[in-house]
Amino acid sequence: MNGLHAVVAALADSGVKMVTGVPGFPITELMEALNDLGLKSEDLCKHEWSVNEKVALELALGSSVCGERSAVITKHVGMNILADPLVTSATHTTGAGVVIIAGDDPGVEKSQNEQDSRFYGMVAEVPVFDPSTPETAYLCIKEAFLLSEKVRTPVIIRLTYRLLKKECKITRKKSASNTAPLDKKIWQLTMRGKHQRFHRESYPNMCGYAENSKLNTYTKRGDMGVISSGFPSFIVDSIMPPDFSHLSLTIVNPLPLELINRFISEHERILVVEETEPVIEKQLSGKVLGKLTGHMPYGIVTAGDVKKAFKNLDKETVTSNITPQTIEERGARLICDDCPYLPLYNAIKELNVPVAGDLGCSIMTASPPLSLLDAAFSLGSSIGTACGFNRKGIAIIGDFGLAHSGICGLINAVHNKHELVVVVLQNEVAAMTGGQVAPDLAGLVSSYVKDTETIDPKDIDLKKKLSTKLKKKGISVILARARCPRFDES
Ligand code: SF4
Repeated sequence: MNGLHAVVAALADSGVKMVTGVPGFPITELMEALNDLGLKSEDLCKHEWSVNEKVALELALGSSVCGERSAVITKHVGMNILADPLVTSATHTTGAGVVIIAGDDPGVEKSQNEQDSRFYGMVAEVPVFDPSTPETAYLCIKEAFLLSEKVRTPVIIRLTYRLLKKECKITRKKSASNTAPLDKKIWQLTMRGKHQRFHRESYPNMCGYAENSKLNTYTKRGDMGVISSGFPSFIVDSIMPPDFSHLSLTIVNPLPLELINRFISEHERILVVEETEPVIEKQLSGKVLGKLTGHMPYGIVTAGDVKKAFKNLDKETVTSNITPQTIEERGARLICDDCPYLPLYNAIKELNVPVAGDLGCSIMTASPPLSLLDAAFSLGSSIGTACGFNRKGIAIIGDFGLAHSGICGLINAVHNKHELVVVVLQNEVAAMTGGQVAPDLAGLVSSYVKDTETIDPKDIDLKKKLSTKLKKKGISVILARARCPRFDES
């Protein structure tokens, strides 16, 4: 087994009835593993890729309301999309357990940023587990369903690629699943009353759980102490000097502050080792060293980083020479040579107008040599961004990005009479995440935007066509239909 299989086994052994999610690194393979782990038929649950993470969580919450356990699989940036129902669900309350599996990407292998999902535990005031190994991940997921049912909020499990790929051996055991639907008595309270109930019952229960959980481990060996969480705990354990103490935290929100303060008071120096941001470190005070003091780097943590920090423990601060990595150094992620959209990208480039892109394949046109995009903030963002330009420009959006959230940008553009040309890369797949089928919104778009035209992206008159559309008043949509050779099964 590896971490992926451990997660799937934990979902099956928790009796989860529905798994939803949105593909993306590093969690795409998790949904696929649900299919091929060879689960027994009674373990199988409903699972689907949803069009966006907000919808994915809404489905999971609906399942919970009816008394069935559910899970959401998302990459870290998806946490931004599902944050709305997540934050409200904490005071709204849930029924059967809801677990959100957030795949973070420290090191930014295949993402648009390096954000830390653990922050969402603080924003939504819900529990967060940050396991160090696949074995712990298996236990955390099973615990998370029980905790979710006790405190009546969703619970977040933060995972990373290295953990998901690590080999493991787990002992499987089915959890008790005497789940209940949502208790509708909550509607007898006002919205303010719900918040007060949350702080009288749910949050203190979370804190009590965090202080007493056996998943947090405390090993006292000497005067130097390391506090860590997540995969870095595994790294710390493998290179730790024999006279260093270790507080390995698995439940990181709420923090077990009594336990941590006891650990701090019993040691002379404390190093905090965590990925990606100083989430734990920022909540501690006193003699704590870590990212904020320059001892540890932001982002991914390696054994070399930890060894270096051990050597610098006598220093109050360390000057970290952060050198921003360049595309030249790492090598650009380029559009495939045989991409059917290359002629279209080249034609748009020649028009010399502002261009907003998306987080699908078009993101690879942003850097040299093509340098086509002016901006690409998030999946589905290009239409909204182009509406904000001070002159008529072009929004490039994939069909998956359009369904994910771009469609709201299009509705807003029509509603508020913005001026732009929208180019939809209609290849019917989410090519960046493995070729999952994208919804075809051509009918919906053409009924909503009068000037909608389907084109072949290899059309030699593309530049002229685009230029005519740019000169016209209002919104034009171009549906550029082509098959992605990477996922073409015809
Ligand atoms: S994956 Fe497909 S759509 Fe994306 S750049 Fe390559 S050929 Fe083009």
